[in-house]
Amino acid sequence: MKTILILTSNDAPQFKVEPIQELHAVMAEAGYDVVYPDSKCDALKLIEQNPRVAAVLFDWDDFGLALCSEISNLNEKLPLFGFANQNTVLDVSLTELRLNLNFFEYHLDQSEDIFVTIDQGIRAYVDDIVPPFTKALFKYVESNKYTFCTPGHLGGSAFLKSPVGSVFYDFYGPNVFKADVSVSMPELGSLLDHSGPHREAEEYIAKVFNATNSYIVTNGTSTANKIVGMFAAPAGSTIMVDRNCHKSLTHLMMMSNVTPIYFRPTRNAYGILGGIPKSEFTREVIEEKIAETPNATWPTYAVVTNSTYDGLLYNTEWIKKTLDVKHMHFDSAWVPYTNFHPMYQGKYGMSGETVPGKVVYETQSTHKLLAAFSQASMIHIKGQVDHETFNESFMMHTSTSPQYGIVASTEVAAAMMKGNAGRRLIENSVERALNFRKEIKKLRTETKGWFFDVWQPDTIDGPDCWPLKPTDGWHGFKNIDADHMYLDPIKVTVLTPGMSKQGTLEDTGIPASIVSKYLDDHGIVVEKTGPYNLLFLFSIGIDKSKSLKLLRTLTEFKRGYDLNLKVKVMLPSLYNEHPSFYEDMRIQDLAQGIHKLMRKFNLPEMMYHAFEVLPQQEMTPHQAFQRVLKDQTEEVYVEELVGQVNANMILPYPPGVPLVLPGEVITEDSVAVLDFLLMLIEVGKHYPGFDTDIHGAYKQDDGRYKVKVIKR
Ligand SMILES: *Cc1c(COP(=O)(O)O)cnc(C)c1O
Repeated sequence: MKTILILTSNDAPQFKVEPIQELHAVMAEAGYDVVYPDSKCDALKLIEQNPRVAAVLFDWDDFGLALCSEISNLNEKLPLFGFANQNTVLDVSLTELRLNLNFFEYHLDQSEDIFVTIDQGIRAYVDDIVPPFTKALFKYVESNKYTFCTPGHLGGSAFLKSPVGSVFYDFYGPNVFKADVSVSMPELGSLLDHSGPHREAEEYIAKVFNATNSYIVTNGTSTANKIVGMFAAPAGSTIMVDRNCHKSLTHLMMMSNVTPIYFRPTRNAYGILGGIPKSEFTREVIEEKIAETPNATWPTYAVVTNSTYDGLLYNTEWIKKTLDVKHMHFDSAWVPYTNFHPMYQGKYGMSGETVPGKVVYETQSTHKLLAAFSQASMIHIKGQVDHETFNESFMMHTSTSPQYGIVASTEVAAAMMKGNAGRRLIENSVERALNFRKEIKKLRTETKGWFFDVWQPDTIDGPDCWPLKPTDGWHGFKNIDADHMYLDPIKVTVLTPGMSKQGTLEDTGIPASIVSKYLDDHGIVVEKTGPYNLLFLFSIGIDKSKSLKLLRTLTEFKRGYDLNLKVKVMLPSLYNEHPSFYEDMRIQDLAQGIHKLMRKFNLPEMMYHAFEVLPQQEMTPHQAFQRVLKDQTEEVYVEELVGQVNANMILPYPPGVPLVLPGEVITEDSVAVLDFLLMLIEVGKHYPGFDTDIHGAYKQDDGRYKVKVIKR
């Protein structure tokens, strides 16, 4: 925080120039960089693009309130120092602006005094933006205390006693180790007791995220989900789980002795997870599910993935009002930013007021789309719970030695999102995503022959979450409910050719897995690859250069594809793994070969049906897991799965959601599930390197897959 901007007019009279020059010298002496923007516009750009700007000095007579208002819009806390001619009326009390503004007059020989005030202002600013736990941690590190406690590396010094340890130490630098401190520092409080600065951090986060209470979780939303589920669903109760859930919730069901019933989402033609229809939240449908499930009673706890993996957000206001379940949990691992832009209003767990008689939980992977260390996660609660009991569940899943670096980064992520500076970050992400979407559409009209498409309404305007309307065709869903689901513009799904909106496979096509491998070879990692779609996330770290690189690489893929280059050239990594198979193959042959297989199996239909029916629950995941622990399992080939009780969760990736859960049986009614699995295996057999990763199924030497089932 060592940059100071000075904004004066170009033709400033000498009585203004001289004092500023004098002040400049003092500031430079103290180690500040002084920058002179050309204009107001230039100054605003500098502030926006350089968060290290620590203060702005400007001529009040020329720039005045108009400048202040625009700076406040970017960062209402930035210290501003207006220099005015003595005669100016300094009346800003009339405005509503939130400002950090001080005044000086143009005087010679006072620069030392003026600088002291400016320097104090900058220090106060830095102190103000650093949140409480982080501040306490910095202070602790600065105090350089000599400890005899854990961690054993003692501020890094243990590493320095070993050659490899020193290499490791040098890679990270000293502060990582100094800030990795033991839980026995009373001045930092405790995460497990929620005391001291840890408590302040959680209170700060709750305020920023509009929650009644928030908890910092240092081992991911995988853990946050289990903490909430274990608290909200006692043994013997029934829980209602989104079938498109993260595997941490399957693990919850294996750990807790509960009976699950499922929300059944739909899928569209593109294989995009469509979210849960409105009817699934109604009393009638839930009662039907209870009647079909042995030992099920009215659920005490329900969990919904919001947003879905493809960026669909629900009308959470409607769900909160309609779903008659006391503990309502939104797994929002992918959307920790919804509280910071008005377009998400009414579409996330902590939005709006407390619902009488209900408790709403929202779990978020702070590390996934905000800036925080891996595993940083938050639980937000709206409503009243017994915090002592909740904390038992929290501690059950939390190490007694949490990483303070993760705690601090979770808190800093919240601090970054506060106020106008945070809103701007989200606005910029949205803007970048919108520009990228527009570029793809533009290239599509300008390019000869085929080009990629993007999954979005036919006309998009402004930053908004786009509703999936029953009357619209673009989304490809059958029977979608009105006012129920919305597409988050930050989640960009790019479509490859080959599949129509109605879900039929065209004569030719380019399966997305090929494009994904190409991008990977060019240093671009795709978030998720579907059959004919690729998902990209425009998180706050994405800048213009990254977005341009993605566009350029997609264009280069098209060029190479149209020239029908060899696989060897287009996909070198794939070639290197299977050189003899791909030696002479060309890219179009590979694409059409896989596409033909998809057509042969009629992939869209198959996928739709595989997720339309659920296998039958013969025992709960908990009971099945107990059998596994007692070794009451055997292995069978996947083809022989019908009628067997599955022991593990079977989860093909993509799409990355469980297809069969422990304790479930694929029956003749649900044989589509098996057909889908067999098709995934078949594609991998024909084209090495294109195997679907199937969690819970084990590839044998003969290329067939086995799964674990419960012994009869
Ligand atoms: C990633 C994810 C999780 C788990 O979060 P981690 O922070 O990786 O532990 C939970 N739920 C959903 C929906 C996810 O996508």
